[in-house]
Amino acid sequence: MESSDFTILEMLGCIYEDLDIDKIEEKFVDLVGQVFSFDRIALFFVKHKKEVLQGKLSRGFDPEVIRKMEIPIGKNSVLMAPLVSGIPLRNPLPDGDPYVEALQLTNFALIPIVSKKRVSCWELKNCGTTDCPAYGKKWIRCWLVSGTKCGRGPEYGVEDKAELCAACPIFSDHNVQSAEGVMLIDNSQSNKPVTDDLVTLLAIIAHSVGLAINNSKLYRRTLEVAIRDSMTGLHNRRYFDERLLDEVDRARRYDEKLSLIICDIDHFKKVNDTYGHPVGDAVLCWVAEILGNALRKTDVVSRYGGEEFAAVLVNTGKDQAMQIAEKLRSIFGERMFRDGATEIRVTLSFGVSSLMVDSIGFEGLLSRADKALYRAKAQGRNRVCAA
Ligand code: GH3
Ligand code: MG
Ligand code: MG
Repeated sequence: MESSDFTILEMLGCIYEDLDIDKIEEKFVDLVGQVFSFDRIALFFVKHKKEVLQGKLSRGFDPEVIRKMEIPIGKNSVLMAPLVSGIPLRNPLPDGDPYVEALQLTNFALIPIVSKKRVSCWELKNCGTTDCPAYGKKWIRCWLVSGTKCGRGPEYGVEDKAELCAACPIFSDHNVQSAEGVMLIDNSQSNKPVTDDLVTLLAIIAHSVGLAINNSKLYRRTLEVAIRDSMTGLHNRRYFDERLLDEVDRARRYDEKLSLIICDIDHFKKVNDTYGHPVGDAVLCWVAEILGNALRKTDVVSRYGGEEFAAVLVNTGKDQAMQIAEKLRSIFGERMFRDGATEIRVTLSFGVSSLMVDSIGFEGLLSRADKALYRAKAQGRNRVCAA
């Protein structure tokens, strides 16, 4: 692809189209590489759990070297500086920075990938001070700019601004949490200039990519919340029904086996009545965890109702499903729920149904499992019955 084929807008459009974070990042690196033809590019992302800035994708660098780079958050390194300040850094003096030396950087820039929507000081304060150096500059962090005219007051130098900035929402809003990572662009080999204009343009693009990454994270989180039961963390009934429909469809099309297990905690009302609702909730979570761990990753387990759980077992016929249900039942025979001094014996009843080619579908599978469960209850509970 010729670099001229791409305008910046097309480039951003391409990135925004995707909701997969890995793909967004990959497109970002590829397109920056194609449009701007730097010698080397690398992306580093903040890993909040590990509290490091970690190398991820690169072009031109040894990918392993980049991937292995983990810079602790808070470490005094030029690679960390754009995260903290929120502004790009161009050709900073290396002064013995081990990361700069390790990558042999002499002609480079570091551009923050900021995920939060940036409110510019002049927008927030609606100051209209057009002769202020920060006015109209979206990517610049005002507290780092000398000679700003905050609130039409006297001109402040960077050193004098500490107090004023500390009380300002623009300043307090920025921290490493609002940064996704850093893009390193490097022309140390060709020594082609890395100009201010280029850096400004890349900062704007990187900010858009940061927002795209953040949108994608929010979208993923929303999706995740929509399909999970908030108490047990298992899938919810809506998701389960959808998956069951799909799996029935698939099993029919490919002539595969499919089984359904529905189970219900025995005399659960008594648990609530005896130990209280919070302990009842803890028992539900305990049961959910056991069921979730005992089944295969490909089996969809859900909280189907109050104290009722369901699992769809792909590629599983009736006999095998009965064995699996029996195994689940017996786990609860071996373990007691414990909460401090409280010990509760929990038993469950199981109903199993299986898809028989050309006889029953989604509805039939559910109603048969339900009937089998009803029989298990009627026959004395703590047992497995099949349709
Ligand atoms: P059976 O053996 O026939 O299933 O008896 P059971 O007592 O388990 O059944 P019943 O349907 O009479 O009672 C179910 C109980 O489950 C009543 C309800 O309050 C309780 N329950 C449903 N959802 C929750 C929940 O989220 N938390 C708690 N603590 N209890 C719940
Ligand atoms: Mg029950
Ligand atoms: Mg019930």
